[in-house]
This record gives sequence, C-alpha cells and structure tokens, in this order.
Amino acid sequence: MLKVKFKFPQAIFTTLFTHAKKTAPEEGCGILAGKDFMITEFFPLENTAHSEQFYEMKAEEQFQIIKKIRAKGLKMIGIFHSHPVSLARPSATDIKLAFYPDVLYFILSLQNPNKPVLKAFWIKDGEVEEEGIEIINEAKASKSSVKLGRNFTKR
Ligand SMILES: [Zn+2]
Repeated sequence: MLKVKFKFPQAIFTTLFTHAKKTAPEEGCGILAGKDFMITEFFPLENTAHSEQFYEMKAEEQFQIIKKIRAKGLKMIGIFHSHPVSLARPSATDIKLAFYPDVLYFILSLQNPNKPVLKAFWIKDGEVEEEGIEIINEAKASKSSVKLGRNFTKR
C-alpha cells in the first residue's frame, strides 16, 4: 500500500471526472493547485493537440494560470490529464514530455466509465514513481460537525 500524502476533496475529483467526460474521446487536461498536501483547485486548460493519445497545453495559458495560483497564495501541485480509454499510467509520450520534476502528474482513467481511476506520479529523468493520494469526503466532515453542535446544545 502507498502511504497517502496528498488529499483530494471529493468535489475536485467530481470536477476532474466531469471535465474528462466532456473532452472525451480527446484527452482533457489542466492544472491542480493547493496548499501543502491539500489540493483545493482545478484549472481546466484546452488540450491544444485535440488528440485521443496525448495532450498539449499552451505555455501562455499555463503561465496565466500559474500567476492566478500565486496571487491566491496557492502553489501549483500537479498537472492533470485524462486517459479516455487506457489505464491510469503514464504513457511513453507522457514520460518523454514530463518537463517538471517537482510537480505531480495526475492521470484519470475512464477505461471503465462507471469507475474512474485517479492516480498521481512523479516523473523525473524518465523514471516514474507513484504517489499516494486520498479522496476525502467533505460533506461527511461537515455533517459530523453539525452533529457535534447538536450534542453541545443538548448539554
Ligand atoms: Zn497520458
């Protein structure tokens, strides 16, 4: 089992899934940002390659988004793209074109459209290493705090 390091709110996961479904059969892509090990925002970008096998993002658009992320006091954590029909594993092209050793590469597989699989990888000098991620349910967390409040009033 991988040790979980990065947390992913369910809402962001849903956004990624929706984006990937919308762009399919082409690969969808974008940038993920957050603070420390918590991912808080997804910025979709156009796959300028409009390909079913790989993705390309305009440098100018990436730059604009990174500026926005910094202005919010957040950090770029990862680059996202979808694999409409293949596994959540970096392709040979993904490895060859991974220019950022310090950001995570998130891949969402729609191979089974009813059970999307999201995985994250570090890609450095052609070497791939999977990183642990966990999807957390925010709705559940806020529900339990409501319950706590009720107990408090009873006392
Ligand atoms: Zn890929």
